[in-house]
Amino acid sequence: MLNLSDLIDNNRRWAAGVERREPGFFDRLSRQQAPRYLWIGCADSRVPANEIVGLLPGELFVHRNVANLVVHSDLNCLSVLQYAVEVLRVEHVIVCGHYGCGGVEAAWKRTPFGLIDNWLRHVQDIVERNRTLFTRTMTDAQSADRLCELNVLEQASNVCRTTIVQDAWRRGQPLAVHGWIYRLRNGLIRDLGLNVSRENTLDAERERALRALMAAEMPRETPPASAAIEGGKR
Ligand SMILES: [Zn+2]
Repeated sequence: MLNLSDLIDNNRRWAAGVERREPGFFDRLSRQQAPRYLWIGCADSRVPANEIVGLLPGELFVHRNVANLVVHSDLNCLSVLQYAVEVLRVEHVIVCGHYGCGGVEAAWKRTPFGLIDNWLRHVQDIVERNRTLFTRTMTDAQSADRLCELNVLEQASNVCRTTIVQDAWRRGQPLAVHGWIYRLRNGLIRDLGLNVSRENTLDAERERALRALMAAEMPRETPPASAAIEGGKR
């Protein structure tokens, strides 16, 4: 296992490597940042934002929390969004969840972890509001996967509903909000089809994304215990 001094050593090697490949990289970057994208993702250590979309330091503005939630009264998230949209003028806000999310699973199973249960209550609320989208024939794993997807649509919708994004659209500022989901098992991102770039189109976009989700084959992060072989392409 690495100890802390190993991390500092890693950092020295990383910085030297970057500078070798691109002399002056850090000096240039220290003068300004001009990212085109804001990433709102889960704090999960297995979903490192820059790495999975192949972007360098300076190219992605990032906010992460447990279960990639956008809560209307969360000043932390709202401040990141406001700065990204109004000061950095990013053109895309990407809410990226992931299958196998421990936060979403805890919300689904109502596993108590302490204070965080109050945060995850927002995810449980999504279940309450969408009871009909969870059928009796679905396994626990399938239901948790569906909740991961619905959570992305919900949080991306919350981004669209903020005064920050609404005001940007009213000003005519180019800004699009997207809902993506990442699969831990293959490292691939799936676009959930929610792409909102104008005021008043959220409901239609959300409806379309939901219908596509229901029509698609039910993805599964964890095979059910009864399935010996996991067949088909997901
Ligand atoms: Zn997660």
